[in-house]
Amino acid sequence: MELFKKTAAELSDLLGNKEISAVELAKDVLARTKSVEDKVQGYVTIAEQSALDTAAAVDAKRAAGESLSPLAGIPIAIKDNICTKGTLTTCASKMLYNFKPPYNATVMEKLTACDVVITGKANMDEFAMGSSCENSAAHPTFNPHGLNRVPGGSSGGSAAVVAAGEVPLSLGSDTGGSIRQPASFCGVVGLKPTYGAVSRYGLIAFASSLDQIGPFGRSIEDAAMLLDAITGHDPMHDSTSIQTPFEGSVRKNLKADVKGLRIGLPKEYFGAGVSDEVRQNVMAAAETYKNLGAEVFEISLPLVEYALPIYYILSSAEASSNLARFDGVKYGYRTPNAGDDLIDLYVKSRSEGFGAEVQRRIMLGTYVLSSGYYDAYYKKARAAQRKIKEEFNTAFEKCDVILTPVAPTTAYEIGAKTKSPLEMYAGDVCTVSVNIAGLPALVQPCGFDANKMPVGMQLIGPRFGEQKLMNAGLAFEQASGLKNIIAAL
Ligand code: GLN
Repeated sequence: MELFKKTAAELSDLLGNKEISAVELAKDVLARTKSVEDKVQGYVTIAEQSALDTAAAVDAKRAAGESLSPLAGIPIAIKDNICTKGTLTTCASKMLYNFKPPYNATVMEKLTACDVVITGKANMDEFAMGSSCENSAAHPTFNPHGLNRVPGGSSGGSAAVVAAGEVPLSLGSDTGGSIRQPASFCGVVGLKPTYGAVSRYGLIAFASSLDQIGPFGRSIEDAAMLLDAITGHDPMHDSTSIQTPFEGSVRKNLKADVKGLRIGLPKEYFGAGVSDEVRQNVMAAAETYKNLGAEVFEISLPLVEYALPIYYILSSAEASSNLARFDGVKYGYRTPNAGDDLIDLYVKSRSEGFGAEVQRRIMLGTYVLSSGYYDAYYKKARAAQRKIKEEFNTAFEKCDVILTPVAPTTAYEIGAKTKSPLEMYAGDVCTVSVNIAGLPALVQPCGFDANKMPVGMQLIGPRFGEQKLMNAGLAFEQASGLKNIIAAL
C-alpha cells in the first residue's frame, strides 16, 4: 500500500481504525529505508529490530482495547544529539562514538509514553555545529531532491529521512537555524519552538541559551501533532522550560484562516546576497497571503546586520564551556597515546576526538570569554542581543507574524562551502536572530528553483505564537498545495 507515502495524520487514522497495523507500517518504512538509504545516508544508527518490537507491542495494546495517543505506532527518527536510553547517541562525533546514554531525554520519555516507534538516530553536523551535515564524523548526508547537494544542517539527517519518505516525522534541534534551514533545503516542514517550550533535558548541549528541540514533518498538521507531544514544563529537569498557553492543543486548534492577519516583510531580509529565486518564491508566497485576505506590508529590522557576529560569539562562548566535560576521562573517546601524563590525556583525547569545526568553535569561544576580550566581545554581544529582542518586540506591535526567506540560497553542492567557514556561517543570516530573541519560527516549502530544489519560507512569531504560525502555515499549505512532498528516488 506504499504506506511510506502517507502523512502521519493519515497513518494515525489508518492505525486507529485498525485498517493497518503498526508492524505493517514499520515494515513498510523500513523497506523504503532499505531501498533509498544507500543514496541518502540520513541515519547514523537504524534501530530496525527495536522498531519492529515496539510496533508489535503497540499492536498488542491496541488489540487489548487500550486508549492510545494519536502518535501510537507512528515511526519517528531522532537527531543523534538527543539522548535515547541504551541506544547510541553519538552527536555524529568520534568523541561520543560509544556513548549509550543511561537515561532518556525528556522528549524521549514523552514520546515513549505516546507509543511512537523509533526508527533510528539521524545524522547531523558534529555537536550540531554546521549548516550542511558535512561536519558529521560518520558520513555526509545527501539531499534526497538532488543527491549531489547538501541537505542543510545541522539536522540534515532528520530533514532528509522525512523528505525521502523513510519516516513521516523526526525530531531535530535548532540553535541558530538547524531545524529550519535543512527543512527549507529538503522541502519539508520544520518548527523551532519558543525558547523554553520544549524541555532541553537530555539534549546534548551546544549553546544552552539558544538550543531548542523541534519537529519535522511533511505537513503542518503532522508537525503540530509532534509539537503537541513534546511541549511542556519540566520542573524536575529543565529550569528554563515553561508551561505554554498552547500546550498539547495546536493540532486541535488548527484553522486555515489568515483574514486580517498582519504580515510584515522585513526589507533587510530580501536584500543583496539573497538569490533571485529565493526572493521571488517568498514574495509569491506573500502575494498568496494577500489574496487570502492577509494584510501584507514592508517593515524594517535593521539590526539583522549584527545577528551573525552576535550569534557566533554567544554560541561559541557557551559551546566552549559546555564541551569542557568531554575530557577523555568521564566518558566517550580516550586517546590510546597518552602515556601517564594527565594533561597529555586531555589534550590528545580532545584533539583526536573533536573534528575541525568543533575545535574552531571551542577556540573562538574560549577567546571571547578570556580576560581582556570578555568586555570587548562577549559582553557587547549580550548587550546587542537585548537590542535585537527589543527590535522584534517593537515589530510585533505592528504585525502578527514576520515572513522571510530561510537562507540566501537553496541547497548547494556538496563541498561548495567546506573550504570557507565564514561563507558557511553567512548562510545562517536569516535564521540566527530568531534564536537570539528566543522566538518561534516555522519553515515550510513555498516553491522550487530551476534545478527543482525546494525553496522554503520562514514565518517568525512572537513568544508563544506557535498556534498563529501553524494556522498561517496551514492556510498557505492549502492554497499552494505544497504538502507531503516526497523526493523521487
Ligand atoms: N549553522 C549554525 C551553526 O553552525 C546553527 C547550528 C544549529 O542551529 N545547531 O552554529
